[in-house]
Amino acid sequence: GSIVAIVGRPNVGKSTLFNRLIQRREAIVDAVSGVTRDRNYGKTEWNGRTFSVIDTGGYVVGSDDIFEVEIDKQVELAIDEADAIIFMVDVESGVTGMDEAVTNLLRRVKKPIFLVVNKVDTAIRQNDASEFYSLGLGEYHTISSISGSGTGELLDAIVEALPAIEEKEEEEIPRFAVVGRPNAGKSSFINALIGEDRYIVTDIAGTTRDSLDTKYNRFGFDFNLVDTAGIRKKSKVSEDLEFYSVMRSVRAIENSDVCILLIDATRGFEGQDQSIFWLAEKNKKGIVVLVNKWDLVEKETNTTKEFEAMIRRETAPFTDVPIIFISALTKQRIFKAIETAVEVYENRKQKISTSKLNDTMLDIVKQNPPPAHKGKYVKVKYCMQLPSPTPQFVFYANLPQYVKDPYKRYVENKMREIYNFTGVPIVIHFRKK
Ligand code: GDP
Repeated sequence: GSIVAIVGRPNVGKSTLFNRLIQRREAIVDAVSGVTRDRNYGKTEWNGRTFSVIDTGGYVVGSDDIFEVEIDKQVELAIDEADAIIFMVDVESGVTGMDEAVTNLLRRVKKPIFLVVNKVDTAIRQNDASEFYSLGLGEYHTISSISGSGTGELLDAIVEALPAIEEKEEEEIPRFAVVGRPNAGKSSFINALIGEDRYIVTDIAGTTRDSLDTKYNRFGFDFNLVDTAGIRKKSKVSEDLEFYSVMRSVRAIENSDVCILLIDATRGFEGQDQSIFWLAEKNKKGIVVLVNKWDLVEKETNTTKEFEAMIRRETAPFTDVPIIFISALTKQRIFKAIETAVEVYENRKQKISTSKLNDTMLDIVKQNPPPAHKGKYVKVKYCMQLPSPTPQFVFYANLPQYVKDPYKRYVENKMREIYNFTGVPIVIHFRKK
């Protein structure tokens, strides 16, 4: 997927624009998972094109005295991770020194840059905006992110500039992304898995990101590893801030089928681990959780069980996820980890025939139908799986609008009892027949 990053100094209106861009879709798609978990990341759709939006300034909401160093990092992150950059400035304040500093960083960038002058809601301000020509970035867009005026034209231009969607030929090889916080042991895990071979990566000229998607065969399994380590090494931005390290995972996650999430057993399942987990879930990717450094943990009778229960509490309601205790150091259960990731890939790929689905699920829904709404009964007629990369099921009903999340969750849980969707987020829709 393509990624658009918003940069700019604090208080120019970045998060207002960000919220406006992701809102529509958010409301429809994301009723289950926590909203606050991804304040800075969301998906949007415009003219039929879906892309991700990152608000790189999101982590300093409300702070006026941002250091220039932080702005630098923000812009570097956008340069590394995004396909297009929205550089937002504020017509009220006019050109500031910090705007000029950002401009300097952006000058060397080959990616499409959209200079966006915000808070333009009168004709006078429309005139005032022309002062931003002095930045030397050329044409700009004027918008009011509060009223939304100008954002349609901006989105038209952005969608036009995004890289064409590559026709990934339907390769039957799973794509795994190894993700996790810094020092969780990602590099160690990859080394334990594929040894020194990882350094024999063919570096096709001109391809930056996708050349890091490399095919391997280990333990009899073919798989691609989606690795962003290469870009990271080149970058000036360290991962000191949680926000950065999480955003570093976005592209790898989006380009994968299954996310292998490494967590550090000596640290538990913390905010950063959760953010990455929900990023994968939000993108409807398969997930395997590997609790790494298990060799360092002193074990009593129930240590494993308790650790596992703790993770499931934190990831509820999506608890049908494999959790494997490994050591990248001693190579304990590395095979099991890959075998499980392949299984999750298969689970995610399965297609259930309409007749089979109706045989199983319709009965269940009829025996325990959605609660009636003001004396009106919801009747489900039939169901089917959509032909999407991630499992989605539609239940056709007379009054789908009365079917609420708890009932959808009930249906999802029943589906998980009957079919094997371990590690796979599934989506249940109720639609009008
Ligand atoms: P990354 O930032 O996620 O790639 O983490 P690294 O692979 O660089 O590992 C961070 C540190 O943890 C290094 O010092 C590793 O040697 C250590 N480490 C990684 N995996 C294990 C493990 O399974 N057991 C132990 N004891 N140490 C580990």
